[in-house]
Amino acid sequence: MYNLEKLIVPDSHDDNLKLNCSYCPKCERKYFPLKEICADCLDSLTNIEINSNGRIFSYTTIRTDSPFYKAPYTLAFVDLDEGVRLLARVNVESHQQLDSNKRVKGVRTPITTKDGETINAFEFKIIEEV
Ligand SMILES: [Zn+2]
Repeated sequence: MYNLEKLIVPDSHDDNLKLNCSYCPKCERKYFPLKEICADCLDSLTNIEINSNGRIFSYTTIRTDSPFYKAPYTLAFVDLDEGVRLLARVNVESHQQLDSNKRVKGVRTPITTKDGETINAFEFKIIEEV
């Protein structure tokens, strides 16, 4: 029922987690999650793997439970280094202030569905600036 595991490249590891992404060879746009047709040129897309490292663009604290997470938790738009902006949970204390532009990377996180099934999704964690 849930296909979140298809978002993650199966043989990638948390020290270098890769995501499945769609790529338009004509206009070079990338999409996540996967799509079949480019929203700009309507060309067919191919699937590529991208790194999950990026920077926080913006974030907010969610104060109601979701099907997967107990409130409060933090959601952020993250600009991946490879040119994709995506929305995902960031694993931080709920009231921790984050600086926009903070470096993050994707890691696997087990979540339990309402059917009691445990599946692998991903979230971001803060990494130190180099
Ligand atoms: Zn295109």
